[in-house]
Amino acid sequence: MSDRLPGFSTLAVHAGAQPDPTTGARATPIYQTTSFVFNDADHAASLFGLQAFGNIYTRIGNPTNAVLEERVAALEGGTAALAVASGHAAQVVVLQQLLQPGDEFIAARKLYGGSINQFTHAFKSFGWNVVWADPDDIASFERAVTPRTKAIFIESIANPAGSITDIEAISTVARKAGVPLIVDNTLASPYLIRPIDHGADIVVHSLTKFLGGHGNSLGGIIVDAGTFDWSTGGKYPMLSEPRPEYHGIRLQETFGNFAFAIACRVLGLRDLGPALSPFNAFMILTGIETLPLRMQKHCDNAKAVAEYLAGHPAVASVSYAGLPNDKYNQLARKYAPRGAGAVFTFSLKGGYDAGVSLVSKLQLFSHLANVGDTRSLVIHPASTTHSQLDDAAKIKSGAGPDVVRLSVGIEDKEDLIADLEQALGA
Ligand SMILES: *Cc1c(COP(=O)(O)O)cnc(C)c1O
Repeated sequence: MSDRLPGFSTLAVHAGAQPDPTTGARATPIYQTTSFVFNDADHAASLFGLQAFGNIYTRIGNPTNAVLEERVAALEGGTAALAVASGHAAQVVVLQQLLQPGDEFIAARKLYGGSINQFTHAFKSFGWNVVWADPDDIASFERAVTPRTKAIFIESIANPAGSITDIEAISTVARKAGVPLIVDNTLASPYLIRPIDHGADIVVHSLTKFLGGHGNSLGGIIVDAGTFDWSTGGKYPMLSEPRPEYHGIRLQETFGNFAFAIACRVLGLRDLGPALSPFNAFMILTGIETLPLRMQKHCDNAKAVAEYLAGHPAVASVSYAGLPNDKYNQLARKYAPRGAGAVFTFSLKGGYDAGVSLVSKLQLFSHLANVGDTRSLVIHPASTTHSQLDDAAKIKSGAGPDVVRLSVGIEDKEDLIADLEQALGA
């Protein structure tokens, strides 16, 4: 072996995986087991006391999931990762390590609709208070900081309009406030943007989308950048203080630059319980092997579809950061030079009714609530994912009544354009 560092496509196929030591199986086996036999009583005790790494019970860790964790950590440039049952589970587990009841976190207002719900309603019952900021106005993040702020949460490429967030500028605000920056990198995937290179301390994903990539398995993951010092000022007791759950161990002191990933596993996943099925980990690993090929095709198709829509008489406007005259094009060139992703919105001159009519006439595009499938998808956010927001909040989050969202798949672009043509024209 040479000392070359492997490139992204090589890591996507190989990182974390080895031929199975007992059988020689080349694909990562699905370790479909709940529990693992201990070597002896001392081994069991050291696993439970966190003195040794190893498998105990699949709610806490599983060898198939471990390959997925190592692979995504390598692709994102983090120190360690933790796979969980869904993207939403990743968000709960991350924030449980950071917030105590009464604490606050600042979130960009342009987010996946499900995250807006989770932050506004579900987290309120835990006593975690979200404070909204505008990702197009960096000063709004600065103004939102208080002594109770414990984290900042943004999307790299933001739902639903595919806008690009200035990660470096917001990471400067986070650094100044002494809190970690969490970046949801679902819509970009590490093929397009690696947030840790731009100052993120924690990256989360819905693996359900582009990483799994085939619309068949839910999953989520948390990547620890290893960059944040959790010991400052007793602000993060889950990481810096002796933990009664583990004989008074201090996680940062013991685990250093992967303490956050360990906290998520042994305090979050172990006790909250949203474990990823090893079968789903296998499906998602298989998806990741082709991530670079798929992502490039997704982006190339999305650009072609966006250009077609921009020239169509029924279309009022297209929000795609890959178009040269788009508001986010400068940021796209900086952060996502290979392509601006495959999820974007456009608005129709005919308003709400035209949006509803379009989704019902499209045939190749599937009308459903997902993104990041090989198949092309369409949804009218105002009547579905964002319907619970009031009109002003809909518009602020990029989901006004005339807006349609596409997730462009990897079919032939000519077929996608023909489908839009018949649906817009008819
Ligand atoms: C889908 C999605 C989530 C939630 O993920 P699930 O796997 O559905 O729980 C979070 N963030 C973004 C950007 C998403 O697209």
